[in-house]
Amino acid sequence: MIRQGKLVKAFEEFYPRALLNRLQCADYAGDKPHSGWLLHIFRMDGWMLFHPLRHLLAMRFLGYTAETFFGHTPIAYAPFGDGPYPCLNPASDHYREPVIDTCAFAYHYGQKALIGTFACDCGFVYRRRGPEQSPDERLIYSSVAEFGSVWHERLSILWQDGSLTVEDIGKRLGVSNHAAYGQAIRLGLPRLRPGYAHPLSSPSQELVPIDAAQRAKQALARRKAEWVRERDAHPGITGKELREKLPSVYKSIQKCDPAWLKDETPPTPRTYVPSSPTTKDWTDTDRVVADAVREAAARLLTAPDYPRQAFHKRIAIEAGYFATIAAQTDNLPLTKAALDKVAETRENYIKRKITWASARYREEQSYPSISRFRQRINVQATDDNEQFRGDIEEAVRSLEAAFPYSEPLIPPH
Ligand SMILES: [Zn+2]
Repeated sequence: MIRQGKLVKAFEEFYPRALLNRLQCADYAGDKPHSGWLLHIFRMDGWMLFHPLRHLLAMRFLGYTAETFFGHTPIAYAPFGDGPYPCLNPASDHYREPVIDTCAFAYHYGQKALIGTFACDCGFVYRRRGPEQSPDERLIYSSVAEFGSVWHERLSILWQDGSLTVEDIGKRLGVSNHAAYGQAIRLGLPRLRPGYAHPLSSPSQELVPIDAAQRAKQALARRKAEWVRERDAHPGITGKELREKLPSVYKSIQKCDPAWLKDETPPTPRTYVPSSPTTKDWTDTDRVVADAVREAAARLLTAPDYPRQAFHKRIAIEAGYFATIAAQTDNLPLTKAALDKVAETRENYIKRKITWASARYREEQSYPSISRFRQRINVQATDDNEQFRGDIEEAVRSLEAAFPYSEPLIPPH
């Protein structure tokens, strides 16, 4: 399926008008809808013939040379990036390790999305929506297609452990308690887990503990053991780090036995200790840091390299006082005022990039198409950036007027 309006518009932005005029190819869109050579080429209307130049323009527009287009170096479409992909089976011994070499993908019309299927040798098969925006997405699946034997084996072992709730089991296997329960029933595991019984008074399927207090005690002991084991396995770990490692364990012990937790938790040293917080006079420091901030911002704004936005944090780092500013904001009023004054808005930053790119093209004595200009400054034609459209077009027009005959016929890769 071809979205004709979008195709014509993208083509328009890709090639400068002047170039198409010179090649006598400017009638690509035609006078009426569904006419024009561009659409006919894309629809592969076999009965129509076109000048080879037009085919070359269409290929180049798609990012091919004639050579790559005709298959000397086929370009594979990889909407989920390159493998190997991680196995996401928490029951396996290779959880999150990149062990799956390939993935299959297909467009799913019901979900209106591209769906990738990833199958591991351990039997675990998961699906993920695509295309992939960033490799971070690889550790999350959209759904599980198949749990597999390794996962099911682990479930039957955990199912026999009376000190675990179904919720605990689900957590360990990466699913909800409902899913864990459902899979257990499908496997034919006993509905009555050790330590549970149906209440005699209730006909419902609700499971209640025989001895809730006993079970709670067991669970607490297990969590305490886990806390100590993790702490001893990492000598030098701070209390804060340990808490972040085992958030749910921390929470439940804190609720039942905070005194024990206090005794068994390693100390967390403070990361910043002011030498004498009440007496130190910050006035001189403030003046020095404020000057450094102004100089750093000036450096960032005038650097000849690809522009980087001068926002608060980057200026503070560039000035070499990031830690001081972060810890002592209240004591550094001059610095704070200087930062607020010199920090760059996004609008200003993009305008600066446009100026920067124009200067580079002038040095190179060439003019680009609008889309190549956008690429160079990394400002896509989205609604967000609508306000810069005029500036970009103006910049390209003025370059085109300055260097009308410089555009290479085939833009370099
Ligand atoms: Zn696996």
